Amino acid sequence: MEEENKPSFGRKVSETSLKLGEMQQFFRLNVTGSLDAEMLEMMKEPHCRVPDVAAGKAKNYKWSTNKLTYRIENYTPDMSVAEVDDSIEKALQVWARVTPLRFTRIYSGVADIMITFTVGDHGDGSPFDGPNGVLAHAFGPASGLGGDTHFDDDETFTFKSNGYNLFLVAAHEFGHALGLDHSRDPGALMNARYTYRDVDSFVLPQDDVGKIQALYGSNPDKPDKPEPTAPPTPNACDPNLVLDAVTTLRGEMYFFKNKFFWRRQSQIPQTEQYLIKTFWPELPDNIDAAFENPSADLIYIFKSQKVWALSGYDVVNHMNISSFSLPAKVKKINAALYDDTGKTLFFVGKSYYSYDTNNKKMDKGYPKLVEERFPEITGKVTAAFQYSGFTYLFNGRNIFEFSDSTLMRVLGNYYFLQC
Ligand SMILES: [Zn+2]
Ligand SMILES: [Zn+2]
Repeated sequence: MEEENKPSFGRKVSETSLKLGEMQQFFRLNVTGSLDAEMLEMMKEPHCRVPDVAAGKAKNYKWSTNKLTYRIENYTPDMSVAEVDDSIEKALQVWARVTPLRFTRIYSGVADIMITFTVGDHGDGSPFDGPNGVLAHAFGPASGLGGDTHFDDDETFTFKSNGYNLFLVAAHEFGHALGLDHSRDPGALMNARYTYRDVDSFVLPQDDVGKIQALYGSNPDKPDKPEPTAPPTPNACDPNLVLDAVTTLRGEMYFFKNKFFWRRQSQIPQTEQYLIKTFWPELPDNIDAAFENPSADLIYIFKSQKVWALSGYDVVNHMNISSFSLPAKVKKINAALYDDTGKTLFFVGKSYYSYDTNNKKMDKGYPKLVEERFPEITGKVTAAFQYSGFTYLFNGRNIFEFSDSTLMRVLGNYYFLQC
C-alpha cells in the first residue's frame, strides 16, 4: 500500500497503522482497456492512484448507450448466491437511480459488464495480490474488457457486516466501469480510500452524483418520492461552519463536523479531511463533544449519553456520561476540554461543570455560568479545546481565545483550518 494513503497518528504509528491496513483499508486499481508498459510498472505496487495515462483518457470517456448488460460469471464462496446477486444488483442501482443508465442482467453470452471472482494472475495483465491490498478492479467503458469488473477472491467479502463489503466494493468499481476516476473528496464513493458505510442507509454522495451526471445526465424517470440526497462534504472555508467538536490527539488537532473530521498535524499548516469511520468504524457520526486526556493517552468521544474511550484506533472502553459524575438531568454535553491542571470542563448550555480527573469526582459548586470564568461568552459553547496553553472556546462561528480567564482574541471559525 502506498504510504501516503495510510492514515496514522502522531505516535505509535507502526502497530496501529498496520492493523488498520489489515482491517480497514484496501486499494482498488482502475485500469483501462489498453495496458501499456507504464501502467504495468505501476501495478507492481498495490496502490490506488489512477495512472496518468488513464486519467487523460478518462475525459468524456463513457458508454455510448444508456442500456447496458451485465453478467455474473461465477460466485465467491464467502456469501450465498442470493447475497451476491443482491449486492451486485444494488450496486448497479446506485448509479441507475441518478442517471438514465439501465442495467439488464444476462445469463449467457458476452455482457458489457462481465463480473468475475478470481485470484492471482487471471489473464488481463493485472494479477491480484492475495489477501488485502488490491481487492478488485474494473475496466473503463470500451468494447472487449471494457466495463469488466473483477473481484479478488483471496479476500473475504461480506453481505451486511463491516469488512470488505461486496456492495460497497462493487458500487465503487462500477463507477470505474462507467467511466469515473478516483475523487479527492474524502466523502465520495469514488475516493480511493475504502470506508465502511451503513449499507441499508447508503445514499450516493453528491460528489459522485455530480460526476456521473456530467457524463450521462440525470434520471428522466421521476421517482415516486424524491431521492434522499447525502449532505455535501463540509467545507473549511464555509463562514457559517459550526463545528461539532474539537480535540487534540497526540499533539495533533482534530475538528469534527457531521460524518467528517479535519486533522491538523503539528508544524504542518495543511489540514486533511477524513470520514470518521475511516479511522474509527465503531464511532457514530455527528458527535457532541471530544477531549483528550494526554497523561492517559486517551481521547473521549461523546454522543448523547454515550462515551467512547479511544487509544489511537482502538475503542478501549464504552462508557456513559454518568461515569464523569455528571448529574442524571444532563442528557448530552455540548463541548468538553481537558485543561493542564487535570480538570475536565463539560459545557452544557450556558453552564459548565468541572470534573477532577485525578480524583475522579465532580468539583463542588458546579455547574457555573460559562460567563463567570470566560467573560464575553454569553451563548452556548459548541466545541472547546486547549492548545499551547491557550483555551479555545467555539461559540457558533467564532473562536474565543483565552489565557486563563483573559480574553485574548476572537477568531474566525476557519482559523485552524486550511482555507
Ligand atoms: Zn478505485
Ligand atoms: Zn482483472
